Parts: sequence; structure tokens; C-alpha cells
Amino acid sequence: MGGTDALHDYDVEIDPPAIEPVEHRIRLDFMAGGPIRRDQLLEKYNSWKGGPENADPWKQSGKTKPDGLKYAEETCLRTFKEEERYYDFFEDDQVLSEAPAFLAHRLRQCRSATDPEEALHSERKRRANWYRKLIPWLNLYQVLKESSYGTLFGSSAGPQPNAEALTRQNTLVGMVVLGDDDQTPSKYARSHNLPAKYVIREADLSCSESSVAVRPSEFGIELPAPLLVGKYTTGGRYPLIPWSDGLVCSCPYKHDQPWRVLCKHELLAAVVASDQNSIFLPVTKGLEIPHRARRFVSPDFSD
Ligand SMILES: [Zn+2]
Repeated sequence: MGGTDALHDYDVEIDPPAIEPVEHRIRLDFMAGGPIRRDQLLEKYNSWKGGPENADPWKQSGKTKPDGLKYAEETCLRTFKEEERYYDFFEDDQVLSEAPAFLAHRLRQCRSATDPEEALHSERKRRANWYRKLIPWLNLYQVLKESSYGTLFGSSAGPQPNAEALTRQNTLVGMVVLGDDDQTPSKYARSHNLPAKYVIREADLSCSESSVAVRPSEFGIELPAPLLVGKYTTGGRYPLIPWSDGLVCSCPYKHDQPWRVLCKHELLAAVVASDQNSIFLPVTKGLEIPHRARRFVSPDFSD
């Protein structure tokens, strides 16, 4: 693990944030947890006011916590513990080469701080806050609300929408995405003998409507490119961008805060991948898409 970013020459200063190891693991946790029932979703939880000092909102509301979430919370604590050695050996480049790219970068900066021990201490505190508070309380609990993941159930899905019910309302469409300067979608479709409805300009995807969301080209994807585009019952058309050995949803929720590790679309993708028993997402409509653009979780974490 961890070597992947180095292989791809990842630069934490200029590239978009890499998918962290904990994100891959959390996806696998939700895959292991399987479908989530409607009555497991929170209704009134306010994620901005939550924190580990509060009572568990599932206990408080008398609801059953989704298994995937339980696994994910254990993963956060375990991953934080596993990272201990990076702080202990923060001056050892050999050890840091195995650390997540962002953490390695921060720890290298600690070396040149006026007080390296103090810098190290605050870095560890910052990371602990991410694993203990930001990921579970502000991100995952927030996604597991009626008003978040629940909106993807649509009206006709039953009390426990499985992958089949979810993909009846939300489709993973194989599309060719064109750049601003490419020929028109209809011309491109004609010259490549493709159905025109599966060729789209990047600017016409929902991720181009918000300055917070990201476009595939911002992640260095060379267009035209065949990509998996999530078309959701809530109205959005968000491509899944191949990045750091996995896929990243391009929606504004995911990218509005750099500490978020999961959006409702990625949770849906986890439930769908779980049903396939595969780290590759299926194309539910449209064109065939290369494996790399369907690989939801890095193979480094899946075995
Ligand atoms: Zn999303």
C-alpha cells in the first residue's frame, strides 16, 4: 500500500487531493455492510454540532446503525493507530515513503519547523481530529441521513433498497466526455458510430455548474474520454473521475470540504459494487467503459 501515489508521481502541492488509504477502506467497509435500510437513516441530526463528546445519534434515536458505518468507524481508529509509526520516525524518508501522500508531506514540513516536536504534536492532533470527529461525525453521519443518501432512494424503492432498486432510479451511464474545444457531440458520435445520447460535452455535466464541484479535465483527464457518469434521481449528472487508483465523485458536496471522504453518490456506488462482489462498478446503461474508469477501490486494499 501507499506506493501507488509515488508511482504516479503525485505532487501534493499542485495535484488535487489523493484518495487517502482510509477512503479506500471505508468504501470496502460499506461494501461489506451491504444495502442500508431507510429506517437506518438519521432524520434530525445536525452534523455541524456533532462530535465524539456527544451521545451516538443512532442510540439517541433508537435506530439501528448500519453495519458499513460501524466498520468504517473501526477503520478510522485502526488507521490512526497504524499511522503512529510515521510520527515516531518522521525524519526517516524510507518510513515516510509508505505514508499517505498528504501526511508524508505534512510530516516533512514538521522537520523544518522552528519547534519540530511541537509541530509534530499539532499535526498528530489534527489527524486525530480528522479520524475521530470530521470523518465520522461531520461527514459519514451527515451522508447517512434521510436528506442525503435517502434522497437517492426516490419514491418507488422499498424500505431496504438493494443495488437493483437503486440502479433503477440512479444509473451509471457509460459516456464519452468531450472537452470544450472538441467537435460537437453529434459530429463526434457520427464519426465514431456511437449513439449521440451517450456523448456529452464536459461543460454540460452537472459538475460544470458549480465552482465547488470538479471537472474531469481539472484532474488531468485528457478529453475526449470514456467515463462513468452517475445520473441520479435527484437530478445531477456527475462523472466518476479515475484518480489515485480509484474513482472520485465530482459533486460539490465531496469537494466543498477537503476533509470529506464520502458523498452519497459514492455510498450508492459502494452498495452497487457490493452487489457485484467486485471493486469494479458496472455500466448500467450506455457505452462500454475501460476497467480503469470503473475501478472504485484500489486493488492494493481489496485483498
Ligand atoms: Zn458525489
